[in-house]
Order: sequence, then structure tokens, then C-alpha cells
Amino acid sequence: MFALFSGGHDSLCAAHLASRSPRFDGCVHIDTGTGIPDTRTFVRDTCRAHGWPLAEYRPPVPYEEIVLRWGFPGPAGHTLIYNRLKERCLRQLSREHKAKRSDLILLVTGIRRQESRRRMGYVEPVQRKDGRVWVAPLLRWTHDDKHAYLDTHRLPRNPVVERLCMSGECLCGAFARKGELDEIAFWYPEAAALIRALEARAAAAGVPCRWGQAPAGTGRAAPDPQLGLCWSCGAKKAAERGG
Ligand code: SF4
Repeated sequence: MFALFSGGHDSLCAAHLASRSPRFDGCVHIDTGTGIPDTRTFVRDTCRAHGWPLAEYRPPVPYEEIVLRWGFPGPAGHTLIYNRLKERCLRQLSREHKAKRSDLILLVTGIRRQESRRRMGYVEPVQRKDGRVWVAPLLRWTHDDKHAYLDTHRLPRNPVVERLCMSGECLCGAFARKGELDEIAFWYPEAAALIRALEARAAAAGVPCRWGQAPAGTGRAAPDPQLGLCWSCGAKKAAERGG
């Protein structure tokens, strides 16, 4: 049993809950190669403070290389980027911890129905898929429930979330809000500068080169409800569209 700890408030509550189970093996954090470094520091510090084992995974092909080959993704390119950045890390986690094919890896997430909304399709607290069991103990929690839990257990909050209203551990841009890169640049100019430098390289490579903008002709694909590690970005986009 692993808690998928992105560094956001929801995943912090979920990790704390999971850590109380005798089955808890630790936290997993995926470093996609594009994100706010302060969040990774927060994840490491939090795990250390609680004595939670932490496994960090990085995708075999870095974000930068993916972008220079395919361009920055919009919603329609999300499945590709998700598979390369996150699914491959989860497969590695499975390979490292499954002794036999029939073993199940239990992944605890901070998904909340109130945030994920109807469009995201999360209606079950436990879902089994591809040798994994996704468990969402916060599914019926409200925003206030989450903060009450953080207060009750005196869990320090990630300052990045307080500033950006997202954990920022991953910034692929597929479901970015309008003006999101400017907000990032205000608080975390180095992270934004890296993205803007990559935009220039993508332009030179002749691939879609605007972070957070759907490439021309790719439409407005809806967030995929199955992509459990991207639920908060999908929810953010659905909310922007009024979904
Ligand atoms: S949609 Fe969000 S969580 Fe998913 S890969 Fe992109 S930035 Fe990361």
C-alpha cells in the first residue's frame, strides 16, 4: 500500500490516513521533471518528519525530450503525456513490488468528489484496474473537512499550494488555466523561466510551442476520468469550463 503524495493538501491528508494502516509501505512521489522544486522539498521534509518511507520516481524519457518531439500538450495530448510521465513510473513501482502477476498494488489518492465533480467520473472510493487498486479515502470529504483534518493533526501545509492553489509538483500544461504561467512566474520565476526557455526550443524544433495552450486543431478534449494521478488538473480545467 502506497500513498501517492504529490505535495498537495488532499494527498497529504490521504498519506496521513494511509500511514495509520499496518499495511502502509510508504509514499510515492513522481518527479516528472517539470514542476516547482519547493513542492518536492516539502514532500521530502514531510515524509522525513513523519518517518514515512518515500520512493521517488522519474519518467524514463524526460518531459523536455517529450515536448521537443511532440510539442506542448493541450487537453487532447494529455493521454500521451500522462502515459509517458506517470504511467511508466507506476509500472516501475509495480515491477519493483509485485512478486507475482496476481499481486495487487494498492494506491491511496487524495481524490475528492467535490473537487473532481461529476465530469471526472469518480464515484467509487475503491476501483480496481490493471493490477492496481485505487483507493480514495477522501472521496466524500468537503474542502472544510480537509482543512479540519489538517488542523486537527497539526499537519503543516505546503506553501506552494497556498500561493498557487495547486501543488505544482507537475506542470505539463495540458490542463493549464488561462494566465496560469503568469501566476507561476509571479511566485516562482525560475520555474516559469524554464518553461519559457523550453517554449523557445520547441518553436525552433517546429512543434507546438505554447505551454498551456491547446495546439491548433486539437479541440477541447475533456479530462479523462481514468487518469487518477491527474484528477486535480482535470477538475481545475472542468471548473474553468463550468463543468
Ligand atoms: S495533467 Fe497535471 S498532474 Fe497530470 S501530468 Fe499534467 S500537470 Fe501533471
